[in-house]
Amino acid sequence: FTVLGIESSCDDTGAAVVRSDGIILGEALASQAEIHEEWGGVVPGLAKTAHEENLDQVIELALSRANLTIDEVDAIGVTVGPGLEICLRVGCNRAKELAIQHKKPFVGIHHLEAHILMARLENPDLQFPFLSLLVSGGHCQILKCMGIGRYSVIGGTLDDSLGEAFDKTARLLGLPVGGGGGPAVEKLALEGNRTAVPLTVPLLQRKDCDFSYAGLKTNVRRAAEKLVMERGVELPSELPRGDKADIAASFQHIAIRHLEHRLKRAISNVEDEEIKTLALVGGVAANMELRSRLEELCENHGWSLAVPPPRLCTDQGAMSAWAAVERLKLGSSDEPDGQDVYARYPFSLSAENNQDS
Ligand code: ATP
Ligand code: FE
Repeated sequence: FTVLGIESSCDDTGAAVVRSDGIILGEALASQAEIHEEWGGVVPGLAKTAHEENLDQVIELALSRANLTIDEVDAIGVTVGPGLEICLRVGCNRAKELAIQHKKPFVGIHHLEAHILMARLENPDLQFPFLSLLVSGGHCQILKCMGIGRYSVIGGTLDDSLGEAFDKTARLLGLPVGGGGGPAVEKLALEGNRTAVPLTVPLLQRKDCDFSYAGLKTNVRRAAEKLVMERGVELPSELPRGDKADIAASFQHIAIRHLEHRLKRAISNVEDEEIKTLALVGGVAANMELRSRLEELCENHGWSLAVPPPRLCTDQGAMSAWAAVERLKLGSSDEPDGQDVYARYPFSLSAENNQDS
C-alpha cells in the first residue's frame, strides 16, 4: 500500500508518497531557508504563511512525481506534534480535509517518533528494542525504543539542544543560518584544528544520561571574544577564516565528545537488556563527523549503528508517510475529525491518543 505524508511542524513544508516496503515513490520539499535567513531564525508567523502558500503545490508535486492521484494513495499521515502549533495546524487541517473528502484512513504522526522510525526505512533489520540518540533543532535525547508508540526517554537536555548549539555557533561566526546553521559549521570545521580552542566537555561530573549545551555555547562565545581582542577586530564574525574554522572544529569536537560520554553510560545501563543497536536520528544526524565518531563508538562496544541517509535526517515529508506506514501495518490509525495538534507532545499522550483509535 502507499501513504501520502505531510510535514509542517517547523519551517519546511514537506510531502511524500512512500510505499509500505519503504520505497519513496515521490517527494517534494519547500524550504523557507531564505525567509528565516533574513531574520536569523524561524519566525512562526512567517513560517505559517509560507506553509499555507506552499502546501498544496508541495502535495501535488509529491503525488505527480509518484505518478499517483490522491484517490490512488491508500492513506494519509501528517505530523500533529510536537512543533509550532500554528504551523502544525496548516498541515493537519489539509490532511484531515483530504482524508475525509477522499475517504482515506488517517494517521496523526508524532514528529520525534517519525525521526526515529526513519532509521528503519532503509534498514528493515533494525528490530526493537534499540536505543536512539535523537539530535535535532528542538531536542537532544537518548531513548529506549521498545516498539511503535513505545518509547522511554532515558536522557534529555537540561537547556539547549545540539541543533540549537550548532545554529548559535553559526550565528556567532556570521555563517549562513537559514535552514539551520549546522551544515555551515560542519563545512568550516573541516578546515580547522579541533584542539586549537580550549573548551570543556559539559556535565562530566554527572552520573546520568542528560545533556547540557548552554555552558558550551558561553564557552565558545568567550573563546571567540578572546580572539577578537587578539586580532583587533570588532566582532567574532570579522575574525580571519582560519580562526573561525578553529572555533567551528573545536566546538563540533567537544559537542560530539559530550554525546559520546553520555552514550557510553547509556550503553552500559542497558547491558543486560538484549539491546545492541543505536539509531542516530534527527537533523544533526546528517553531520558526517558525528556519524563516523558514533560508528566507531558502536564498533568498540560490539554494537551496530543505524542511521538514515543524511537528507532523510532533517525534516521532510517521507518521515510522516513512513511513520504512518509503520502504524498502519499494526492496524492503528486515527479519526481525522477529532484530530488536534500539540505544541508539546509527550510520548505518553500520543500513546493514549493511539489507543483511542
Ligand atoms: P525537532 O525535530 O526537535 O522538532 P526540527 O524539526 O526543527 O526540530 P530538524 O529538522 O530535525 O529539527 O533538525 C534541524 C537541526 O539540525 C538544525 O539545528 C540544523 O542546524 C541541524 N543540522 C542539520 N544538518 C546538520 C549538520 N550537517 N551538522 C550539524 N547540524 C545539522
Ligand atoms: Fe524535526
